[in-house]
Amino acid sequence: MKEHIRLASRESKGKSIIRIGEVAIGQDLAIIAGPCSIESPEQALTIARAVKAAGANLFRGGAFKPRSSPYSFQGLGLEGLKILEMVRKETGLPTVTEVLDPRDVCWVSEFVDLLQIGARNVQNFSLLKEVGRAGKPVILKRGMYSTLLEWLQSAEYILKEGNPHVVLCERGIRTMETYTRNTLDLSAVPALNELSHLPVVIDPTHGTGRPSLIPAMCLAAIAAGADGIMLEVHHNPAEALSDKDQALLPDQFARLVPKIKTLREMIESWSGTEG
Ligand code: PEP
Ligand code: MN
Repeated sequence: MKEHIRLASRESKGKSIIRIGEVAIGQDLAIIAGPCSIESPEQALTIARAVKAAGANLFRGGAFKPRSSPYSFQGLGLEGLKILEMVRKETGLPTVTEVLDPRDVCWVSEFVDLLQIGARNVQNFSLLKEVGRAGKPVILKRGMYSTLLEWLQSAEYILKEGNPHVVLCERGIRTMETYTRNTLDLSAVPALNELSHLPVVIDPTHGTGRPSLIPAMCLAAIAAGADGIMLEVHHNPAEALSDKDQALLPDQFARLVPKIKTLREMIESWSGTEG
């Protein structure tokens, strides 16, 4: 297996730090928050201001949505990207958005700071190669059926094209369980930290699909050594155009962030004393 993850493997280098504006992912705790989809300038700005005030350091929002049904909201496309640009200007938060199509990578890169490759595209090798060539920082989600090694080989496609700015995001895998939307694999965090130098972020929103479980999963992720979390937040989840059942309210998010930060500081202080 080792020969297939030459660049992604831990042995090839020490922990990677991915710099997005002032945030150094892999060193600073990444708190990526925002709606599933960008719906309007007002919606995006309301949520962005709230998550920034609560301590988020990156803003997420989909302009191109990979929906199971072709009749579901597909995202605002270019209009959504312009809104993301406006949000960055207004709040100073770097932005994250998903790219679905290799033909869009180059121009979408002009609008945002971090490109997301979603679970459904983890083995879209043309897309992986294209984001590799674009050189833009990438957050690569785990596929719903990916093993850790398959996922790392997907990261390898990006690295091999000369783009070292890759962050991994565990978002749950499909199992027989139906109470949760997916099964969030928190063992992926220490396992990836053994296998790879790439930073690892946890997405308990898609991982559980249940707001009530999100705080516990965030804290467990930080305890396991995650480099950050990605959460969906919406001020009016009932009216959200996608993933309305799983978003946290801004005040729930605001109550959670200090706990996450305190736990992270505690863990950092332990590793500082281990010598
Ligand atoms: C999302 O982040 O909104 C999303 C579609 O995620 P995933 O690819 O993990 O399903
Ligand atoms: Mn979503």
